[in-house]
This record gives sequence, C-alpha cells and structure tokens, in this order.
Amino acid sequence: MTNIVNLHLKTNAQTKKKTRPNEMKKKNLILGAVTGDIIGSVYEWNNVKTTDFPLFGEATDFTDDSVLTFATMDGILHKKSYVKVYQGYAQAYPDRGYGGNFADWIYDEDPEPYHSWGNGSAMRVSPVGWAYGTLDEVLKQAKRSAQVTHNHPEGIKGAQATAAAVFMARTGKSKAEIKEFITVMFGYNLDRRLDEIRPGYKFNESCQGTVPEAITAFLESNDFESAIRLAISLGGDSDTLACITGGIAEAFYQEIPEYIIENVLRLLPTEIINLIGEFSEKYKKVK
Ligand SMILES: [Mg+2]
Repeated sequence: MTNIVNLHLKTNAQTKKKTRPNEMKKKNLILGAVTGDIIGSVYEWNNVKTTDFPLFGEATDFTDDSVLTFATMDGILHKKSYVKVYQGYAQAYPDRGYGGNFADWIYDEDPEPYHSWGNGSAMRVSPVGWAYGTLDEVLKQAKRSAQVTHNHPEGIKGAQATAAAVFMARTGKSKAEIKEFITVMFGYNLDRRLDEIRPGYKFNESCQGTVPEAITAFLESNDFESAIRLAISLGGDSDTLACITGGIAEAFYQEIPEYIIENVLRLLPTEIINLIGEFSEKYKKVK
C-alpha cells in the first residue's frame, strides 16, 4: 500500500510551528461529509473491497457530494432557497460528477422536482443535522432540502434519516439509540453486518440502497477514519457512501484526525474554506 498519508504527516510535523495558531480553528471545521466524498472520490469507479487503501492520492478531489454540501451550508447560513444554492453551486463548480437528471436540472430556468429517489438528497443534507435544534425541525428541514429535486418518498426519507443520524450523534445519543430510531422511523434494515453486505454489494445510486449501508458503516466503526474506510470498503458509490457515513461519524466522534484535515483543506478553494468556517462557527457546538 502506498503510504501517501505518512508523507503528509512528515510534512505536517515539519511545519507544525507555523500552522499552530490555526490549529484550534481547523479542528472546529465541519468537514466530515466533505472528507468522505474526497477520500472516496477515486474509488467510485475503481472499487476496493477492503479497508486497506491509501486515503489520499494524486487524483483525489472533491466531487458533486461536496459541492452540494457547501450549497446546503450557504442556503442555511444566508437563508437562500435550496433551488438557488443547488443550481448556483453546481454551475460554479461544473463537471464534478452530477447525476443525469440533476445535470439537466442545474440549468433549468423553471426548475421542478423530478421525483428522484437518488442518493443525492442524502449526500448533501448533513449540515441540516448541525443547524437545527430539535429532531422535528431537522426532519422538516431535511425534507425541504430534498424536495426541490428528490420529491419521491424514498428521496425524502434518505435525507431525513441521514440528517436525523447527524443530529442524534452530535447531541450525544448512543449508537444503539440512533440505530433504533432510524429502524423504527424509516424502516431501514440496520441488522446486516458489513461483512454480509460487502460481497454482493454493487453500484447503487438509490437512497434505499445507499443510506442504510452508510449508516451501518458508521455503526461498525470505532473512530472517524475507520468509519470512512469501512464505507469505502463496501464498493458501490464509494464517495457518496463515505460522504454520508463521514457526516454522521464526525458528529458522533467529534474529531477528525489532523493529518486528514490538512489533506482535505489543501483541496478546497479558499472561499469554500471560509464558508465552512462561517457555518461551523455558528453551528458547531463543541462539547
Ligand atoms: Mg460524487
């Protein structure tokens, strides 16, 4: 295994003195979903069925999952409509792997929802789980973010389950409580082990074929990095799986390793880091 991470670790150690003043701020950035997308980006079309793979390589970059997560943050922060931010960000960051129907919707002058059950509604929703104060409000707002495009019941459900898991994780609920709530409320089967799912799991762009698996990866993890590795080890739509898992895992463990944060920030435009900073400052309540 190419250990690119270790190379970066060395660099970080060497420059530690210089970066020190920003450390606290970096640690407080909400980056879980974006990190999952970035690490998974090179594995979507080149699946690995193992947890043993390099986290960052030459081709690693952010994709549609991240762009639309930024858009959700902006929409919440600045009270912009979801139609406006999803179209605006996708136009500003084109060619990031947008799905077929969404790719047309981006440029539609009179955009209507298209009854999608795709996992796009779940991959972009994690900021909702941070920004609202009650589970009811989180469910309501997750539906709002989904239904501008994904107004199929499964599309709305995928967004709500993801946002609810983020909310419960960040407010101190246990894995058992999160599992119970998601199972009862949404009817997802979270009893399968990843080892059972992995052998037969193929590319699946639906919410119902992505969100339960992503939540299961979180449930089996023991820290942020293992959650991302487990999600990607399933194969399938790797960046979206890891994006959904990453958003929940960050909220639960409240910590992303520093070398991962450094590598992620290297790939993000300055205006995006500023947006995430503004969102995190307002909504990340550190325990
Ligand atoms: Mg993607």
